[in-house]
Amino acid sequence: MVLIDLQNLIKFYGPVKALNGLSLKVPKSSLYGLLGPNGAGKTTALRILCTLLSPDSGKVFISGIDALKDPRSARKRLGYVAQEIALDKILTGRELLKLQGDLYHLQNNERDEQIEKLTSRLNMADWIDRRCGSYSGGMRRRLDLAAGLLHRPELLVLDEPTVGLDIESRSAIWQLLRELKSSGTTILLSSHYLEEVEALADQIAIIDGGRVIAEGAPDDLKKCLGGDRVTLRVREFSDEDEAQIVRKILLNIGGVQQVVINRAQGFSLNLVVDGEEVLPRLREELLEAKFDLFSLSQSRPSLDDVYLQATGRTLMDAELAIASKRDLKLESKQAMR
Ligand code: ATP
Repeated sequence: MVLIDLQNLIKFYGPVKALNGLSLKVPKSSLYGLLGPNGAGKTTALRILCTLLSPDSGKVFISGIDALKDPRSARKRLGYVAQEIALDKILTGRELLKLQGDLYHLQNNERDEQIEKLTSRLNMADWIDRRCGSYSGGMRRRLDLAAGLLHRPELLVLDEPTVGLDIESRSAIWQLLRELKSSGTTILLSSHYLEEVEALADQIAIIDGGRVIAEGAPDDLKKCLGGDRVTLRVREFSDEDEAQIVRKILLNIGGVQQVVINRAQGFSLNLVVDGEEVLPRLREELLEAKFDLFSLSQSRPSLDDVYLQATGRTLMDAELAIASKRDLKLESKQAMR
């Protein structure tokens, strides 16, 4: 059964097209990961799902409820843990959770029971009665997660839940998410940590440029890439022409598939090889064409390879590209002042 159904979402911020026809179906009781570089549109999609933002067009259904037409009913079913946490500094963690429980109209005994349970599950007992102003990032994030879970939502939506966190906070959060999933809660989380998504998610969607470019179970996505992944260079930094020549040579070798030029990594070549005899042949063919091998590494396919195959860049390259675009915009704004 599908719990979340996002259909063809479009969202502009002024001239920036943040969502470009994003569609997604999340099965009930699954832990679903949205993976993508900074700026891909993950937060925008999650905020629309949680009725905090309206799309320019498209549809949003949660448990069959049209969330754009009936946001109140949709909100009752979900808990949202945002990327940026705004906690009142004067209140203690417990006071803040009580306030949150009252906003959800929970009975006092039910509210206090839930606070006790979450305090213990998220290892917050030592500091829950201290003022929030003294909390570390990991403490704040755990408290925020507890606030999102107080009303026992059937859907928990988390935006980059462990970004910048210490190992203890991260593993407490991962553990809780696994427990919630096994007790039937549907979890949708966004992340740009491959490791996090691999460790937690049953299914993922890779988002790039405001739309889904690949989706499925992580293992299935990796299997689609076939055999081992090879990255090779014929010199430390090639150029486009040379990379294209090498690519043509490689594509003519049996057992070599999906040759992609990684422009952001000195025009190195990424390919999939199927069979042990392929690598020696590859060396021979390159030597015959007067190319020395500068470097060659071989690995099992990762989610980053899935991303590279779909977009022609790695996740990190995509983030660097978006960050430099941002810097350029900033520089030109400053220059205009
Ligand atoms: P991150 O992981 O950094 O939060 P993201 O994948 O969640 O990235 P979004 O925050 O949804 O991406 O941003 C998508 C695009 O929309 C980016 O180009 C971003 O700069 C732009 N954007 C997001 N919010 C706004 C806003 N309030 N005003 C203008 N542009 C925005």
